[in-house]
Amino acid sequence: MAEPQRIVIIGSGLAGAAAAGALRERGYTGDLVVFGREEHQPYELPALSKQMLLGDADEPNRVHEPEFYETRQVELRLGVEVVRVDVAGRVVEDSTGATRSYDRLILATGSTPRRLPVPGGDLPGLRTLRTVEDSLALRRELTDGVEVVIVGAGWIGCEVAAAARRHGASVTVVDPVDLPLRRVLGPRMGEVFRDLHAAHDVTWRLGIGVDGFTEHGVRLADGGALTGDVVVVAVGAAPNLGLARDAGLALADGGVAVDAALRTSAPHVFAVGDIAAHDHPRHGRRVRVEHWANAKGQGEHVAGTVLGQDEPYEASPYFFTDQYDLGMEYRGLADAERDELVVRGDVDAREFTAFWLRDGRVQAAMNVNQWDDGEALQLLVDARAEVAPERLCGGDLG
Ligand SMILES: Cc1cc2nc3c(=O)[nH]c(=O)nc-3n(C[C@H](O)[C@H](O)[C@H](O)COP(=O)(O)OP(=O)(O)OC[C@H]3O[C@@H](n4cnc5c(N)ncnc54)[C@H](O)[C@@H]3O)c2cc1C
Repeated sequence: MAEPQRIVIIGSGLAGAAAAGALRERGYTGDLVVFGREEHQPYELPALSKQMLLGDADEPNRVHEPEFYETRQVELRLGVEVVRVDVAGRVVEDSTGATRSYDRLILATGSTPRRLPVPGGDLPGLRTLRTVEDSLALRRELTDGVEVVIVGAGWIGCEVAAAARRHGASVTVVDPVDLPLRRVLGPRMGEVFRDLHAAHDVTWRLGIGVDGFTEHGVRLADGGALTGDVVVVAVGAAPNLGLARDAGLALADGGVAVDAALRTSAPHVFAVGDIAAHDHPRHGRRVRVEHWANAKGQGEHVAGTVLGQDEPYEASPYFFTDQYDLGMEYRGLADAERDELVVRGDVDAREFTAFWLRDGRVQAAMNVNQWDDGEALQLLVDARAEVAPERLCGGDLG
């Protein structure tokens, strides 16, 4: 296959920018353009709901230093949205009407926060969190004494709750699920996060849905209401699949179907990050995750595939969060409702590691306020190691 000379990347988030960096690292010298809807140079999202909301930072981490794009001859088309991809003609069209041809195309379009399809669900005053502007706007509103209602008890809802409490806001979190983070972590670990926030005076309204928004707050499915000066909608994100769908690329499991090496169904088109439903060699099925490490890892990996290698992307999912004085890392992919949970350490003191086992094999591990075993946990998860629960509880992990 001929060496590529014109590579186009759509999406200037972590995955797209990591791909651009890795292409240059690997010695690619042809044209390289990154289209980004936002006006900012590529930046990372985790600080938006943590350091920036907490007031500990005014801006997020950049993916590359500002001068990187010029010195490495990466053309950044910021504030420009790609509106059409023609895979047969190998050309993309942007919002200015200009077209650009490619011989390799990387899709890295990320996600958009979901809204609830209920009356008032599109009120302009509702806050969501995806961009640096979203974070700065919300930060300005999180002040002492304001009433904050957070709809959604997932990662972002929990992190916003922690930040809001730091600023002295009164916080209520509402979710139809009976425990925060239950879908990912299961009931027992969900309780850990419920108790953590309760200890910081967050009010939970769990097991109840929201069936409308008003100027004054939210209407609950049981006929009740919650008033809020600030209402944050944190009900997950939807991958931006429009371009891929319209271009006729195969979709699967809620994302753009990619093979083990991150190739889509169309020749010379690749997809990475939040949108990629990846045929994961370790899991034996498609995996689509919305994680920082996945965006970075797939972005870096796809550079090799684009340049002609045929290596599978094998990294296990990895995720982290910080809430109050709790820091945690999660590796792997468990079925938290069904897998066996084994805990090592002291849950009440919030210093422990949780393991999820299926047929005696480690599917996932979560270390909470314990930082010494990261490498050992990674090996256990990567190998789907068969380990006796007694050893996980107290023995040597190495
Ligand atoms: C507030 C917040 C906190 C998070 N915290 C954590 C965390 O603690 N740990 C963790 O593991 N993960 C975290 N995540 C998730 C993680 O940051 C994402 O999974 C990751 O950033 C996804 O990267 P991406 O490049 O695929 O997508 P994005 O970062 O969404 O980037 C996609 C970019 O493409 C642009 N774009 C889309 N369509 C077009 C188009 N047609 N033309 C031009 N540009 C386009 C978008 O505007 C966007 O800038 C967090 C996410 C958020 C929102």
